[in-house]
Amino acid sequence: MINYIKKFIINQRCISCNSIKTEPYYYICPKCIESLTLVDTLEKICPFCHDTWINKGVCQNCFNKKPLWQNIYTLYSYKENVMKQLIHLYKFKDSSLAEHDLILLIKPHLIPFKDYHFIITPCSAKTLKRLGYNPVTRIIQKLGLEYSESLSKNQTQTIKKLKRQERLETSKTMIFHPEKINTTKKLIIVDDVFTTGSTIIQASLALNNHNFLSFDILCFFRS
Ligand SMILES: [Zn+2]
Ligand SMILES: [Zn+2]
Repeated sequence: MINYIKKFIINQRCISCNSIKTEPYYYICPKCIESLTLVDTLEKICPFCHDTWINKGVCQNCFNKKPLWQNIYTLYSYKENVMKQLIHLYKFKDSSLAEHDLILLIKPHLIPFKDYHFIITPCSAKTLKRLGYNPVTRIIQKLGLEYSESLSKNQTQTIKKLKRQERLETSKTMIFHPEKINTTKKLIIVDDVFTTGSTIIQASLALNNHNFLSFDILCFFRS
């Protein structure tokens, strides 16, 4: 109800085509949503990391290296500007309207995962301070899915100072707290955007350190 009042007051238009007919969304219209790219409709993607940069059958992101996870699921391509804007509004402007839109976009794709236990990747300290919550947790929570914030960043390491390769190979950049999870369910690590995969790799290694070897990956967006 509050959102409808907000829309009425600010006369929210589609951020992509400027249409005022955005219902049931606020920042995006149903027409523009139809033009968004779903990762599983892309012709050529790497089965291990969903990258599209494949050269002579070799993925240029993961080089076909056997992944640490079983299955990977990514929903929308992050190449479209409208998605970047929506995420920006959600993460940086604390917009309840953007949150509403993102949840509507993601919800139908998460039906197959309703019996999973979601392990949320930690967000940056800056984001947590700015919003007061982890934006991924918020979406999973609003979708009524079971989750835990059972991963934390290892504060004893200055991760940013490490080179990318070192970062990927250092297994203790993230810490897993197995006592916080429900081990009777299938586990899935969730993050918002999959870019190089370094966050997901660190999270996977943290689970491996506790002998959790069987889990899936879900990222809402694949850049
Ligand atoms: Zn539009
Ligand atoms: Zn790959």
